[in-house]
Amino acid sequence: MCSRYGISERVEQYISSYGWNRQLIAGDVRPQDMAPVLARQGNMVAALPMAWGMHNPKTGQLIINAREESAAGKAMFSRSLRTQRCILPAEKFYEWDAAGHKVTFQREDDSLLHLCGIYRYEGAVPCFVILTKAADSMAIKGIGEETADVILLYAFREPVFVLDAYTRRILARMGATMQNDDERRAYFVKDLLNNSAVYGAYHWLLLEQGKRYCKKCPVCDECPLHDDCGKHLDR
Ligand code: SF4
Repeated sequence: MCSRYGISERVEQYISSYGWNRQLIAGDVRPQDMAPVLARQGNMVAALPMAWGMHNPKTGQLIINAREESAAGKAMFSRSLRTQRCILPAEKFYEWDAAGHKVTFQREDDSLLHLCGIYRYEGAVPCFVILTKAADSMAIKGIGEETADVILLYAFREPVFVLDAYTRRILARMGATMQNDDERRAYFVKDLLNNSAVYGAYHWLLLEQGKRYCKKCPVCDECPLHDDCGKHLDR
């Protein structure tokens, strides 16, 4: 979740059933904008205008999102998390990829999104932040772990070790004894610089090794790992 989300006439229609009777300007909501928020008022849920962003009391900095994993441990959010939760109806939200391209997220069935938030009053103004969590590309239908890792590494420049069938085969033939992918990944990652370019280069080197030499029928006599490989030494 980045610093922009979209609302539409459909949002206005939806929140009118929660008592919203103001004019809503459809378009993108930005930090500090007033946006419609659903929050409990007594025994009812009502649609209220709130400002996006809370100010850090120490630095004055505007904070627009809170990570759900850590919000409970932060003084700035903990009380709101316990007592002042809210929902932000939205049509879509955006992310920007590493190359600066805007990516729009909407529900597949075209229904509205309900973003989770918390709020508090700064003076007379109710202000909210959106609760976010770490990206989980595995949640996308049809995306397996390897594809998700490839997307994270090459599209988002995250230092993620891509573990594929080539890597498993090379390790097995060389005599490695790891029992699962976590152990295989840990074996490589422990000595790698935390840098996506390094992870990318490593992935490509293993891919080339698997395609050129360590194929289904290995070309051991030409292989650069020839002298260290368990499979070759067993022959
Ligand atoms: S020596 Fe043969 S089995 Fe070993 S890594 Fe090279 S190609 Fe694969």
